Amino acid sequence: MRIETKCVQSGYTPGNGEPRQIPIVQSTTFKYATSEAMGRLFDLEDSGYFYSRLQNPTCDAVAAKICDLEGGTAAMLTSSGQSANFYAVFNIAGNGDHVVSSASIYGGTYNLFAVTMKRMGVDFTFISPDCTDAELEAAFRPNTKAVFGETIANPALTVFDVERFANAAHAHGVPLIVDNTFATPINCRPFEWGADIVTHSTTKYMDGHGAAVGGAIVDAGRFDWLAHADKFPGLTTPDESYHGVTYAEKFGLGGAFITKCTVQLMRDFGSTPSPQSAFMLNLGLESLHVRMERHCENALKVAQYLEQHDKIAWVNYPGLESSPYHARAQKYMPKGTCGVVSFGVKGGREAASRFMQNLRIAAIETHVADARTCCLHPASTTHRQMNDAELVAAGVSGDLVRLSCGLESAEDLIEDIAQALEQI
Ligand SMILES: *Cc1c(COP(=O)(O)O)cnc(C)c1O
Repeated sequence: MRIETKCVQSGYTPGNGEPRQIPIVQSTTFKYATSEAMGRLFDLEDSGYFYSRLQNPTCDAVAAKICDLEGGTAAMLTSSGQSANFYAVFNIAGNGDHVVSSASIYGGTYNLFAVTMKRMGVDFTFISPDCTDAELEAAFRPNTKAVFGETIANPALTVFDVERFANAAHAHGVPLIVDNTFATPINCRPFEWGADIVTHSTTKYMDGHGAAVGGAIVDAGRFDWLAHADKFPGLTTPDESYHGVTYAEKFGLGGAFITKCTVQLMRDFGSTPSPQSAFMLNLGLESLHVRMERHCENALKVAQYLEQHDKIAWVNYPGLESSPYHARAQKYMPKGTCGVVSFGVKGGREAASRFMQNLRIAAIETHVADARTCCLHPASTTHRQMNDAELVAAGVSGDLVRLSCGLESAEDLIEDIAQALEQI
């Protein structure tokens, strides 16, 4: 099946007389005939459902679709993109470990890494996605356990050189984890370029309607944990909480990472997606391929309009030929990038804020990737915890407006921007 067909069909195939749409299994628990039968599930000897904190059939069907879209071997949903990134990293990096991360990442992820996970004993080195080979090499330490980046960074819109960072990660015996939220598997499939784990905030384009917060983790099933057994004891030595199961041996390359993540991290932290939310996410996925095309088309038209406007200081959109990331975007996402455009309004912070108040269609929201166009001033909202130097490293300037182009008429969006600029 091609990816368009997978968006519609993957993950759930009903049998005779069964519901055509994915059933919402709104049940916390599942019945068994004997305690022994249920015990085998607790020992990970059989697979099946026993408690929805760990797994639920509705959520699993939707995870299977996302797995198929990315071309992975196993996937899980989480209750948010934050928990997806936390789980993906914490599954292999704990107290005393170190991770190399792109500095150009979502503000929430930066805070998770630099503050909260640091308190848990995980150290991060943040490097520019455009760093030199020497800088990249110098970022690794003996206790490095992973490399992390975003295919298209939110909100800086830098494009990550997945192949280059995958090669560097693998040369150091660690996996590359890539947050593919903005590009979506419609426009970019990081596994084809060597990434090992992909994460998503499904809250964004995958849901696409601003309806449900959620996340996903997908494993390419290629990273050989046993070949680097000393680095990943959590996957390569027995887990006493499951009677000595060794994940990499019992579940193989394809299943070890997601199984461990589910049965340890979901068990203990419980960032569980609800079956209702998973159902809504699936409705979004059914039209993801159609929507992404329009999001990208609208964003390109808006970016081209802004670029020639004399009240605009600069425009950043990787789909524009003037973008320093244009060539890289063509390589990794030839069909299009995303619907988000960032730009600076002449007159800085204050002009940007007045421009935003004048918009009638685009609403001010802490959100992106919605059917409805929305905009945000990151320096005073999502990135406000960062100091000036950190803002620069994350690619966020004071005058930056982030505009997420929705599915409306591009002409209406441009007229709205024109009248808002007219007034300043
Ligand atoms: C929004 C976002 C997140 C966090 O996801 P939530 O669903 O809001 O928890 C992580 N990464 C990227 C790139 C995002 O845009």
